[in-house]
Amino acid sequence: MHDWYEQAFRRVLYPAYESGLRRRRTLSWLADYERNQWLAPEQLAALQWAQLKRLLEHCYREVPYYRTQWRALGVTPDDIRNLDDYARLPLLTRADMREHYEALKADSWRDRLLYKVTGGTTGEPLRLGYTRESNDRRQAVMWRGYGWAGSRMGRRTMYLWGALGQPPWKQRWKDRLFNAAFARRMVNSFHMSEANMAEYAQAVDDYRPTILVGYVGALVRLAEWLVDHGRRVFRPQAVLCCAEVLHDFQRELIERAFGCVAYNTYGCREVMLIASECEHHHGLHMNIDHLVIELAKPDYHLANERTGEVVITDLSNYGMPLLRYANGDMATAGTSRCPCGRGLPLLSHVDGRVLDIIRTPDGRALPGEFFPYLLCHVEGVTGFQLVQRRLDRLDLTVARGKGFSDDSLTHIRHEIHKALGDGIELHCQLVDDIPLTRSGKTRLTISELSS
Ligand SMILES: [Zn+2]
Repeated sequence: MHDWYEQAFRRVLYPAYESGLRRRRTLSWLADYERNQWLAPEQLAALQWAQLKRLLEHCYREVPYYRTQWRALGVTPDDIRNLDDYARLPLLTRADMREHYEALKADSWRDRLLYKVTGGTTGEPLRLGYTRESNDRRQAVMWRGYGWAGSRMGRRTMYLWGALGQPPWKQRWKDRLFNAAFARRMVNSFHMSEANMAEYAQAVDDYRPTILVGYVGALVRLAEWLVDHGRRVFRPQAVLCCAEVLHDFQRELIERAFGCVAYNTYGCREVMLIASECEHHHGLHMNIDHLVIELAKPDYHLANERTGEVVITDLSNYGMPLLRYANGDMATAGTSRCPCGRGLPLLSHVDGRVLDIIRTPDGRALPGEFFPYLLCHVEGVTGFQLVQRRLDRLDLTVARGKGFSDDSLTHIRHEIHKALGDGIELHCQLVDDIPLTRSGKTRLTISELSS
């Protein structure tokens, strides 16, 4: 065989073949999930329970961490008869995963796991093991959810995504081939600054994406710039907002700037897509045929009783199973069914990070969500960041734009005082602009109390 052909085969044909096969497997899972979404809620619950039962038996047989833990508790899989029983099992945290890393791997999968690194931003990175089937199913669930926004495999899609560093040139070359084959283009939001926003706008015009997918922070940043400069860009069919809480005022801004509908999605690195909006925008449909999603009651007081800490069980990863994993987010359950008729239940909204809850000395707790609601209605506020470093002190940085006055500041002080009481001092600082974090995300409220 000619050397050049071998090279070409190894570099081009084989990767293309492999991804083709993987794509077929993903498509076949996708067909299953597409069918599931129309099942009645009771049928979906039964399907979820059957999968959970099978996974629990597998964990008891094969995963040392759970076997040891359940034996200590005197529990066998037979004792877990419904989701209420299941909800009494201990939570799994990132600290547990780090400490019991090897014991979380299933015996029969230990030597043939795939790995993915998670969580560089909120602590030490952790390599999580998963099986190929679990990966293909995650992809399929993601395609189903993105599909509700009109996204399809092979449809022109632009990703406004944060990426740290550049991959080595070989990987870059392979990525480019892969992206071209799948009709997608990656644009790194990590490099965004006031000075180069015109290039990002131009990238949208050049690529003419049908679907635009991005981090909320990066999309908002670009949308603000487009509106401020009166710049119209190519109009996609839909914008998919990922990786951060999407507030109503941000959604309005994105829709105005890109001239199309925005869709909210919710996921995390450990399990990928958890929930996403359909065409009715009535909340986010939870992928309960792929995950168990619980909203656990916290030990602090929250005003809305439907709000809780997100606890996830990945039903398809038999390699390194995550049972009742508390991913650090808070969310609020929906109250009604979606008019679309899908049986997948609804999340009303995501409330941000558990760590970013603002607390007061007299025991009150407010989700981070409260502050954007308050501040987006104040005249002349173009951005803000709230940091709690001490229980009795808040530091608020406000980006002021046109129309900001002493009255705006008085109003902010009055409203925060009303919500949080007398026990907390508020220090305000006025600036012209608040930079994005390194990955292109925004963090609106940050609590450093428990870190
Ligand atoms: Zn729906």
